[in-house]
Amino acid sequence: MTTTLEGTFVMTAPVNRPATPTTPRLRVLIIEDERDLVEGLVYNLHREGYETIVAHDGKEGLRKAQTHLPDLILLDIMLPGLTGTEILRELRGADRTREIPIIILSARTEETDQVVGFSLGADDYVTKPFSPRVLMQRIKALQRRTEGTTEPGDLVEYLGVRIDRIRHRAFAEDQELDLTPTEFRLLECLLRQPGRAFTRTQLMDASIGEGAIVLERTIDVHIKTLRRKLGSSDLIETVRGVGYRFRETRGA
Ligand code: CA
Repeated sequence: MTTTLEGTFVMTAPVNRPATPTTPRLRVLIIEDERDLVEGLVYNLHREGYETIVAHDGKEGLRKAQTHLPDLILLDIMLPGLTGTEILRELRGADRTREIPIIILSARTEETDQVVGFSLGADDYVTKPFSPRVLMQRIKALQRRTEGTTEPGDLVEYLGVRIDRIRHRAFAEDQELDLTPTEFRLLECLLRQPGRAFTRTQLMDASIGEGAIVLERTIDVHIKTLRRKLGSSDLIETVRGVGYRFRETRGA
């Protein structure tokens, strides 16, 4: 203990401190068709404090990557629908998904596959079978590498609307919004990609959850409430025949 003019400083030893007290819950998209492996990954990721999104085939995986913009993707190579390398090419070719860290999971050990994966922009490559502990280490190492180069994703702000994912709070022109969890996720999905039109199905996946038995019109009801709570009906635009988008520019 030392005393200064400002007062007393207690020198505390770092005992029993949570490992990562302020780390946001990062969202990991798992694109993998082996269901047992997916179950194991989900279990281990949740235990480490990550959120997970799961896709069991290539097309679903690509769609979810584009819709959810996860913080990290675990990508299998041999997939039904689209292969992992096709997904990789697709994601690296688009501005919105170019920076998402991707770890390839593959049973193939041939050097050429790794070369192809890295040349297409994968960030790391883990060969199956792998231990959960090893994969978690690789995920953390990748996170450390990409920190500072990508958006943390915990704060999103556009046209005066702000979302804080860590604290689960939303604001419009500095007024806090009282949102239900569904409305919060819906707003977050739209706000993260202003100007992008989302279908009702995509918005349901992102806000209500996959496989939920709800009518597409349910989204219309949530949008209506959300517009009212935002205090402005023109921030969320209706895209005729498609769905909705968050306004890209002010005025006009
Ligand atoms: Ca596979």
